[in-house]
This record gives sequence, C-alpha cells and structure tokens, in this order.
Amino acid sequence: MDTSKQNLLDKMIKRDEITRYYTNGRDFIDDELIMRQLEAGKKNTDPARIRDILAKSLAVETLEPEETAALLYVTDPELRKEMEETANAIKHKVYDNRIVTFAPMYISSHCINRCRYCGFSADNPNQKRRCLTMDEIKAEAEAMTGIHGHKRVMAVYGEHPMTGAEFIAESLDAIYSVNVKTRHGNSNVRRINVNAAPLSIDDLKIVQQAGIGTFQVFQETYNHKVYAQMHPADTVKGDYGWRLTCMHRAFDAGIDDVGLGVLFGLQPDWRFEVMGLITHARELERFVGIGPHTFSVPRMHAASGSDVANSPSTFTDDNFIHAVTVLRLSVPYTGLIVTARETAELRDRCLDLGITQMDASTRIDIGGYSQRNTTQKMDEQQFMLGDPRTLEQMIVDLARKGIITSFCTAGYRCGRTGGCIMDALKTGKEGTFCKINAVLTYREWLDDFASPESVKICEPVIQQELKAIEETYPLFYPNVLERYNRICAGERDLYF
Ligand code: SF4
Repeated sequence: MDTSKQNLLDKMIKRDEITRYYTNGRDFIDDELIMRQLEAGKKNTDPARIRDILAKSLAVETLEPEETAALLYVTDPELRKEMEETANAIKHKVYDNRIVTFAPMYISSHCINRCRYCGFSADNPNQKRRCLTMDEIKAEAEAMTGIHGHKRVMAVYGEHPMTGAEFIAESLDAIYSVNVKTRHGNSNVRRINVNAAPLSIDDLKIVQQAGIGTFQVFQETYNHKVYAQMHPADTVKGDYGWRLTCMHRAFDAGIDDVGLGVLFGLQPDWRFEVMGLITHARELERFVGIGPHTFSVPRMHAASGSDVANSPSTFTDDNFIHAVTVLRLSVPYTGLIVTARETAELRDRCLDLGITQMDASTRIDIGGYSQRNTTQKMDEQQFMLGDPRTLEQMIVDLARKGIITSFCTAGYRCGRTGGCIMDALKTGKEGTFCKINAVLTYREWLDDFASPESVKICEPVIQQELKAIEETYPLFYPNVLERYNRICAGERDLYF
C-alpha cells in the first residue's frame, strides 16, 4: 500500500476504537461458528421443534442462533406458511396495523471507497458526482415534505472528507429548518435517520447532538472472506472491524437507536448473512442491553460500472421472502425495512411477513426531488430502483388492504428510544402509541396532500382504526379524539 493511502487510513480509522470491543483480540463474528450453527440447523427442522421456536417468537423473545438456523432450512410449504403467519402476527402484536413511511435523501455521490458492487465507487469514471449545498439540501427537504408530505427522511452520505461529521450535522440542521405551508396546515421533516460511513466516537457525538433518529451502518456482508473480496484492503471500507464495531461506538457516543443491514445477493450464502445480522443484534443486546431498532434488507441491484452488481444473482425472490420471515421471527421487536429497491409486487408480498417500514416517491439521484426527475439514470445514482410508486399510490394500495400508513415521529421526541423503546416493544405497549400516532399523522396527510379520490379510499381505514382505539382503550379515547379534532381544525404535529 502506498504511503498516502496508509496515511488516509491511519487518519480515518481509530484502531483503539475497534480493538476495545474485541474479545481476546477477535471480533464477535466467528465465521466457523456460524457455519457450524447452520449445519446443526439444517439437521434439525422437525416440525414439532419448529413450532416450539415459533411459539417463542410469538412471545417476543429473541431466538438462539441454532433456532434461527433451523428456521432457515425449513422447506415444507405448510411449515413455511405457518412461519409467515407467525411473523405477521408478531408484527401486529408489536407494531400494530401500520406501515411507517419515509424517503431517502441522497446528499452526495462522492466516495473514497471502491466497493465492487456500487455505482458510487471511486473506481467508476462514469458516475456524475455531486454533493448538495445547504441550500440544495433545503430545496430537497422542501420538495419531500411540501410536495409529497414526508415527515421522515433517511439522509444518505457516501464516505468522503467532504461529508464528514460536521457536514452531516450541518445538513441535518438545514433539513430540520424547512417548514412548508400546506392546504390546511404545514409540513416539515420531523425525524432524520442517517445512513453514513462508520465514524469515530467523537464524530458520532457531533452527529448525535444534531438530533438524529436512527443511525444506520450496513455491514454489507458478515463473511470475512467475502468482505475482503468486495472491499479493497487499501480503502477505509476495507477495514471489516472498523465497520463492524461502529454501533458499539455509537452507543458509547450516546446514540441509542441504531439500524443494521446486509446487502443480500452479494454472496450466494444468504443464510450466513441472516445469521450475521442476528449475531450482531445479540451482541448489541449483550453490550448495552439494547438491540437494533431496525434491520434493512437491501438486495444488490444493477449499478453503473460494477461487474458484481450487474452479474446474475442466485438470490431469488423466495430466498428474500424466507430471509425476511426469519428475521422477523428471530428478533421480534426489531423494525424491518424493505425499500423501493424491490418491486411493488414483492414489497406487497412482504407486508404479510411482518415488515414495518417502506419508502415511497423515492428518488436516489442527488437532488432528484427538487428537480422533479421522473426517470432513473444509471450514471446519476448508486443502483436502480424497482418500485416507482408515489407516496400517494402506495398509501392508497395499503389502504385497499386495510393497512394504515404512519408518519409518526413521536418515539425519539418523547424519549422512547434505546432501552425504553425496547421494553415498550417487547411488552406490546409501543403498539398502542403506533396505532394512535398513525391515526393522527394519517389525518394530517390526508387533509394536506391526498386527492379527493384517495381520501375516499383511505377514510374507511382511519374510521376502522378510530373504532378499534375506542373499543380497546375506552378511557383514553376522548384524549385521542380531542387531538384528532384539533388536527382536523388545522393544528399539526400532535402526538402521544
Ligand atoms: S457502497 Fe458506500 S462506501 Fe462503497 S463505494 Fe458505494 S458509497 Fe462508497
């Protein structure tokens, strides 16, 4: 490795902030142990045992790795169906009948890394690079919240000195500063989740103080060997341990709401990646008593300049469905995000598997919302999307299935994060807040953004949810109704 590259790595990677989280000099992903757990699981898919595991999941208990491994090898269609039904039942128990919506804001396509599957790779000369200015970031926020009605944004940054912690904090301020007048009230971004490169503890403190929701870093693959093949060793991302320990640093920096993910399809052994995710979740539970708030399950899609991303993948839709089901069953309290990378059909199928969050009206080209782009251009985005639905189309599709879309951002603003939200989720209490806040925020969105035709389709859903609240919480119902009526009168951002 040449000296300038080594100097960059030494500057960006704090070695002692990796090794302090190791045990006996090793990180917590033991590839051989995971392989042995998978082998054992493969031999242990007796239906009676699988049903015992499902009962444990339904009690909202985190599964043991051996139990997850067994679920990953179930092939019997009837048993798979039981798994899916249990996954869906858990979702309703923990999160009620709602899908939270958000949209990603891609802020920069500059990146110093050379990941082999990514259109933003520094090795890709075809990518048109751009980093938004603060004014452009505000324009994006204005379009996202003013045109579409989004309240939650996932801010996405590549890894580059231009987009370090100070820049991230400044951009969060810019997004939060936007407030747009609507038909009957106003709209603003109320929660920003951040998807960024691993940071040091000091940098994570800067981001934390800017008021983030969830901090996401995806490991991409937990398999050490595959990781090394995909991420050149002379890049910052080539350091497996720096990435793997980022959430430990996040907790030490005061961030208690974190999201994990892998890039399915990067390697053939998708079961290994599910095991990696649940091992990571269990490690965080061990470390601070708080598991991840969300799992994301992005799948590799075509990307400009990438031999890996543009090769045929062995990871099928059925594998995807199986992986999502097992994740829901294995860590029952964790939110599950399926993004617009996938087709509308597959995302709709995942609604029956207990997913909790979906993006819509998604643009992943830099500045795409404010420019009102409607076509995808391979050389202006990280990968290609599969679900082009607008937020309104998705909300209507969900309403037709009786599902309410939630814009709730109450959790972190009410202090329901970290250990507090874990307890609330595990005991089913959070589902009550989910239900009520879904109704309040849905009302806002319908009044401010929906067409008369959409209102007609969505109105029965809100009435169904209000009725359920009245029947389940009769004593509390008048309080809900009081806030609901204030929203109907034009007040905004009321929540419990
Ligand atoms: S995956 Fe992330 S780190 Fe890797 S090249 Fe793409 S933007 Fe950079």
